[in-house]
This record gives sequence, structure tokens and C-alpha cells, in this order.
Amino acid sequence: MARRISATDIRVYGDPVLRTEASRITDIDDSLIGLAERMFEVMYRAPGIGLAGPQIGVERQIFVYDLDDDPQVILNPVIVESSGEWVYDEGCLSIPGLFVEMLRPKQILVRGWTLAGEEVEVEADELLARLFQHEVDHLNGVLMFDRMTPDQRESALAEYQRRAEGASVEPIHLKLA
Ligand code: ZN
Repeated sequence: MARRISATDIRVYGDPVLRTEASRITDIDDSLIGLAERMFEVMYRAPGIGLAGPQIGVERQIFVYDLDDDPQVILNPVIVESSGEWVYDEGCLSIPGLFVEMLRPKQILVRGWTLAGEEVEVEADELLARLFQHEVDHLNGVLMFDRMTPDQRESALAEYQRRAEGASVEPIHLKLA
């Protein structure tokens, strides 16, 4: 029987699975293909443009993404080159309502596997490069909090405290000072 899926399947900040290092995938079988399908479903429903395994509680090196109606899956991704600098107001489905301006490399080269088990290299720029860096972080247990400036982190944690106490749930944007 099909399991009902909702955006609430997304693990949020505070869940320890988001802090674990995902393990490398060595076998591509039907269950992995099913996992990728489920990840797309959760991502589209959220909605988001990228989703990594740990965000639905799966500690495996897989992420899915879709920019411009081009759904893709990457397994075992490694960033092999990066260059330039680019500022972007980054968000995360696991840290809802918080957008943080961050400086990261503008261009990167990612190496990984496709769902067919073929090695693939993708050159990415700007938003796609940012998405890849964000998802690879998830597979290493790294969250936006770790990339923030000390001032942004202080504001973000204070905002989370306010939310835990039942205050505002309006999205906030933290500028790069
Ligand atoms: Zn995220």
C-alpha cells in the first residue's frame, strides 16, 4: 500500500539526522529508485528546488533537484573545483522561514553518479552552483547555521528561540553585514 507522503516528512532543524554524515551508495537497486521518486514528491510538494537524503531521514549520499523543469538525481557527489564568489539569499526546507544572505563560490564542478550508475560531472554557476553546495553540505551534516556570520547566527538562533516560544512565524531574511 502506498504510503501517504506530505511535506511534513521533511526533517527540520533540531533533528539529529541532519547532523549525520551520509554514507556512500554502492548499489543502485529498485529501492534506491523508489527513494529518488519519493524525494521528488516531497520536494515538489514543499515546494523546493533541491532535497538531500538526510532531509527525509535517509543517511545516504543522494540528492535530487529541479531547476527549470529538469529533474535530476546525483549520488555520491563531490565538489572537485570551485571558483569566484557570489552572494545569494539562501533558504533551506529543513530551516523553514529563514533566509540568509551568504557568500560562497560562484562556479563549481561536481562529480558524482547518475541513478543509472554512470559517473557524471556537472559544471554549475550561480543558483545551480549554490544548490549543489547546499545539498552536498546536507550530506556532510552541515547546515546553513555553520555557514553564517557570527551576527547572522546570533539573530537566527534568537529567532528560533522566539518561534519555539510560539512567537512570529513570518519569514525573516538575514543580510550579509
Ligand atoms: Zn537545506
